[in-house]
Amino acid sequence: MGLLSLGTPMPWDEAKKYADHVRTHGIIQFLNLWEATKDSQKDCLLWGDEIEYMVVSYDEENKRAKLSLRVWQILQDLAKEEEEAKTDPAKKLLVNSSWHPEYGRYMLEGTPGEPYMGLPRDLLAVERNMKLRRELARKYMLPNEVPVTLTSYPRLGCAGEGLEPHHEPHGPAARSLFVPDDIINAHARFPTLTANIRRRRGSKVAINMPIFHDVNTPKPFIDPTIPTYNDYPEDKNAIEEGAALPDHIYMDAMAFGMGCCCLQITFQAVNVEEARKIYDQMAPLGPIMLALTAAAPIYRGYLSDVDCRWNVIAQSVDDRTEEERGLKPLKENKYRIAKSRYDSIDSYISNDPKNKPEYNDIPLVYDKDIYKKLSDNGIDDLLARHISHLFIRDPLVIFHELLNIDDNESTDHFENLQSTNWQTMRFKPPPSKTSPIGWRVEFRSMEIQLTDFENAAFAIFIVLVTRAVLSFNTNFYIPISKVDENMKVAHHRNAVLEEKFYFRKQIFTQSRPGTPAAGTPSGSPKVSPATLPRVASLSAGTADEYELMTINEIINGNPAKGFPGLLGLVNNYLNTLNIDIETRCEISKYLELIKKRANGTLMTAASWMRHFVQNHPDYKQDSVVSEKINYDLVKMIEKINKGEVQVPELLGNFAV
Ligand code: ADP
Ligand code: MG
Ligand code: MG
Ligand code: MG
Ligand code: MG
Ligand code: MG
Repeated sequence: MGLLSLGTPMPWDEAKKYADHVRTHGIIQFLNLWEATKDSQKDCLLWGDEIEYMVVSYDEENKRAKLSLRVWQILQDLAKEEEEAKTDPAKKLLVNSSWHPEYGRYMLEGTPGEPYMGLPRDLLAVERNMKLRRELARKYMLPNEVPVTLTSYPRLGCAGEGLEPHHEPHGPAARSLFVPDDIINAHARFPTLTANIRRRRGSKVAINMPIFHDVNTPKPFIDPTIPTYNDYPEDKNAIEEGAALPDHIYMDAMAFGMGCCCLQITFQAVNVEEARKIYDQMAPLGPIMLALTAAAPIYRGYLSDVDCRWNVIAQSVDDRTEEERGLKPLKENKYRIAKSRYDSIDSYISNDPKNKPEYNDIPLVYDKDIYKKLSDNGIDDLLARHISHLFIRDPLVIFHELLNIDDNESTDHFENLQSTNWQTMRFKPPPSKTSPIGWRVEFRSMEIQLTDFENAAFAIFIVLVTRAVLSFNTNFYIPISKVDENMKVAHHRNAVLEEKFYFRKQIFTQSRPGTPAAGTPSGSPKVSPATLPRVASLSAGTADEYELMTINEIINGNPAKGFPGLLGLVNNYLNTLNIDIETRCEISKYLELIKKRANGTLMTAASWMRHFVQNHPDYKQDSVVSEKINYDLVKMIEKINKGEVQVPELLGNFAV
């Protein structure tokens, strides 16, 4: 939203002079928006998914699967279809999707043409629409191109012929040893974002993911494929200079992170209070769903010891200076900042009485002046903290043409900071004062799945969880520091089966274990916002409220403990609705997938890909994912999508 405004972007030296200008006006814009929309009421749920695709170009002769840098052309064709569909009702049904550029020049993002409604029958449109999108995207591809929904491209950044057309790694924006700038979306915003992150940070980004040590992987592993030259001042020798860690897969550019694909779900709430409640309730599920959807085990041609992308992206856009990272005393900068601007959320924001101050137990860095300005204008403590926390960051891309805008009409400066705080949850205000769109919440941690069936299953599951949350007035609160611990653990190889996660034991507000007050209307009791600063107390006072659970328990429940699990909640919720048998059966197919992923009957995409690589005849048990293995993997994924092969270990007996 508001991301692709055209204009001339400022390099960092110039942009930094306007950081306060953008923040000041961003807050005025937020306050104007707040005044106009704070009482906005919507009568129904609207929601939608975002699916990101990579476009692969096959070189059949040499058995290579490359990334196609031709996406700009495909997007233009899709935009034309979208435009025509607006006026042609026959076309509307055929197109019924909306397309957006993404960071990578090989990436596409597609959303449904219109958001879905909350009716159970509507859920059955989800997979159909995802299939339609895949077909539509394919229509504008060359015969040797295919859209794939892979979270991280296994051989992104490997030397050799990995891009179509070919480019050698080189470029002033990223200065990467591994990827050319030509891999970045050509729109001025993206190379500028890349360069300004590097410039603000004072060095290239350094991403290190632990390597998976197979029997023939050297120990210590010192990556022989890291070039020992660079045309640019930094990283003359990434290993000697310490940027590349031993026993790790080193990556040095934003593209390794922002070039990953994910599955995001946005829900419109009936009002701002409900949006804040959904935000808080869904936040503890972020790491759980990350582990359950894990789909990113390979980076730069190596099997890694992590199963998911999140930390790669966090490190890929970490624009904090050495002072902010705590490596030097504060001099130029105002704050020590614990996390990258792409990270898990730092505070709960609902005024729900269930939200005890103790849950916000990590020290929140926020801009005191902005907090005051927000408070003075009637914003309550928790929301003022949230916004003034987002606003500790600098705007990274400022367009000359958009510096002075009407704060009554535009929200560009607000969106500038809002949309570059990439967190597990996003609280989205209406896009403008007059927009028909209401307050929304976005769930952002999930990895993209290999097939539309799986993506539909996770989208449907998540939207049903939000319905159950509201209907049963659940309480998922645990101290936010524990959510962060879960986030770390979620990355571990096969965390879904082998790790335990903190989760709340008693998730119903007022009833006995296992018997939700079905259908209890949520209501949002008004509490007066705390006026005193909230002192983060030790989470000891809440320690008996949560315990370590397996994902199987969290999802499928534990009858011995009277814990219903998220699927139990969802099924209870569905029982309260009047659904015809056919619809219920269809929905059950999706929920079965979730159940079986959680209990280990089915593999995650990450486990399945590892298994594929490790059983490939060319694999030498040395962690290396060769061009041929990559080609076969992508071909296999394509066949699965076309229903040409059955993979019961991944999908059970659900036909694609
Ligand atoms: P962003 O990239 O900023 O997260 P997108 O526009 O790409 O946002 O995706 C927004 C998603 O939100 C879409 O799937 C859309 O269907 C969904 N959505 C939810 N509620 C609404 C609403 N009220 N109006 C429009 N879209 C909505
Ligand atoms: Mg986006
Ligand atoms: Mg989007
Ligand atoms: Mg996107
Ligand atoms: Mg999004
Ligand atoms: Mg944060």
